[in-house]
Amino acid sequence: MSRVSTPVEINPETLLHTFLEMVRIDSPSGGEDAFREYLIGRVSEKAPAYGLTYHVDAGGNLIVDVPGCQARHDRVLVLSGHMDVVPPCHNIQPVVESVAGDRIIASDNTTVLGADDKSGLAPILEAVFFALEHQLPRPAVRLIFTTREETALAGAKELADESLQAGFAITFDHTGKQGVIINQAPTYIEFEIECRGKSVHAGIMPEQGLNAIVFAGKVIEKLHLGRVDADTTCNIGFLTGGKATNIVPDLAVLRGELRGHAPEILARELAHIEAVLAEVSATMPGTSYGFTQQPLFDAYRVDETHPGVLNLMQAARQIGLESSFMRTNGGSDNNVFVKRGLPGVVLSAGYMEPHSLKERVRLSEMTLCAQFVLVILDTFAHEPF
Ligand SMILES: [Zn+2]
Repeated sequence: MSRVSTPVEINPETLLHTFLEMVRIDSPSGGEDAFREYLIGRVSEKAPAYGLTYHVDAGGNLIVDVPGCQARHDRVLVLSGHMDVVPPCHNIQPVVESVAGDRIIASDNTTVLGADDKSGLAPILEAVFFALEHQLPRPAVRLIFTTREETALAGAKELADESLQAGFAITFDHTGKQGVIINQAPTYIEFEIECRGKSVHAGIMPEQGLNAIVFAGKVIEKLHLGRVDADTTCNIGFLTGGKATNIVPDLAVLRGELRGHAPEILARELAHIEAVLAEVSATMPGTSYGFTQQPLFDAYRVDETHPGVLNLMQAARQIGLESSFMRTNGGSDNNVFVKRGLPGVVLSAGYMEPHSLKERVRLSEMTLCAQFVLVILDTFAHEPF
């Protein structure tokens, strides 16, 4: 079915202005209050005229409900992004540079930019406001702006069940080309290994000691690290231990992570870690070990034929974007949404080199993202999901 496309286009200057306002407000994980107040200010300006309602939940997440317009069903579409930014992110000074007819927004190189995820939030907010002002077709929309995404999705995990009662969710929080639909993400497990030996004076009686760092070294050598297979990665990120050069250390602690898409392979790799510990400890009588692991989020896969995904592909076609599917090896709030029964996918927020001092975004990418949101709203107003 072909429909009249958007009558007017989102003004890139408005979008840029909003984005710059957003990144200038500090919002570290757990310290999103000022930024949330800014968003509430923007929403409450529109609330009386357009019937928006909003609330902040126990996790500090901001939930905004936007009534539908010309919708052919009563399904709710969630549009989401996170409010927090990784450090260093205090007093961000964005720098706008004109390059070949486009503008690139970067930081002054002393902080991250905060485009992760504010280059997702700005297009969502401006597109929804634009749709309200121009009375464009849209389903009932719920905006979910989360806290503490960067600390293992802590904000999303505190969302109330009612907030997740919706038909489909689209989270704008990835790097890369617009139109790429991320419908698979891994399980993420953090683990800690304690290698225990015996402390003695290193010069006087070394033969009576059991060096925990040597124990840990032998363990590391036998672990499957890096890309374990096509579905799985494993990393040791910390090795700590020791008290002085003249003491044989009695404790070394390894901390790492395991990510993967296949539960049976993750179980196998966890078992492998335990087997390595037992094996190495047996070669060093008197040593002992501890192993603890904690899954921080769970893998998901949303089917490529889900009506919400089909609607997205239709919207992409309509705006001239080529849609394709991708599996990410990172987590996002969408891991929580899908686990708790709300199917959803992740789209690009256009940012480049996230979490680095070189983090940046093109204005053209943000504008495209906002236009895409408008077409998504139109499509989801007409097609059930
Ligand atoms: Zn992010």
